[in-house]
Amino acid sequence: MPMAYRRLMKVHQLPSGAVAWPLSPPQQSPPNALSILAFAQSLKTIFLDRDGVINENRVDHVKSWEEFRFIPGAVKAISHLTAAGVRLFVITNQAAINRGIMTTGQVDELNSRMVEVIRQHGGWIESVIYCPHRPEDGCGCRKPAPGLFFRAAEQFHVNLSEALVIGDALADIDAGRAAGCAGMFVLTGRGREQVKALGPEYRGVPVAADLLAATQLLLGQNVGPRHRIPTS
Ligand SMILES: [Mg+2]
Ligand SMILES: [Zn+2]
Repeated sequence: MPMAYRRLMKVHQLPSGAVAWPLSPPQQSPPNALSILAFAQSLKTIFLDRDGVINENRVDHVKSWEEFRFIPGAVKAISHLTAAGVRLFVITNQAAINRGIMTTGQVDELNSRMVEVIRQHGGWIESVIYCPHRPEDGCGCRKPAPGLFFRAAEQFHVNLSEALVIGDALADIDAGRAAGCAGMFVLTGRGREQVKALGPEYRGVPVAADLLAATQLLLGQNVGPRHRIPTS
């Protein structure tokens, strides 16, 4: 293990759920965890992918609230991030709309219920921003395209250079990076499968077991002693 990384673990005990770099070949470097922690100091905004990060993925789309299952620890993680003063947005591809499987009204209702449960637990999602298009529609907002991030920047005055995207797919990381954000990968959802394709170009992207582990990595172990519930 490189010296810098060993030193990091000493001064800043990595949470048990955090995965350093589970990839082969072994000659690959561990993630630049020192820089992600330094970055955490200036971190203002986190873009969360939805399916596979906050809730369980479904191959046939999450079509209703009945099919929506929070990933264990995700709601807690979001409340910790809110308590730490991080602005949070959900950025999600919802091709079910243009495939005619769901209406925008149904997607909006599902997202509202998700946001409401999160709010009841002390977390706050400022907005859920989604792309309704299918891959073949050739839009500029379906991840890995960065359009949704630019929309967030414009509409909500997010400084993309102080933002991080957390996703379970390479498309999330690619989209965020194309918009100038840092990226962080989780192994929930499609993550276990997608991580196999992580080439050297993703060397600086930290990998965490899930959103809670990612949050612990960013905020340290003593996350979220207080909860700030927005009044509006
Ligand atoms: Mg996903
Ligand atoms: Zn789109």
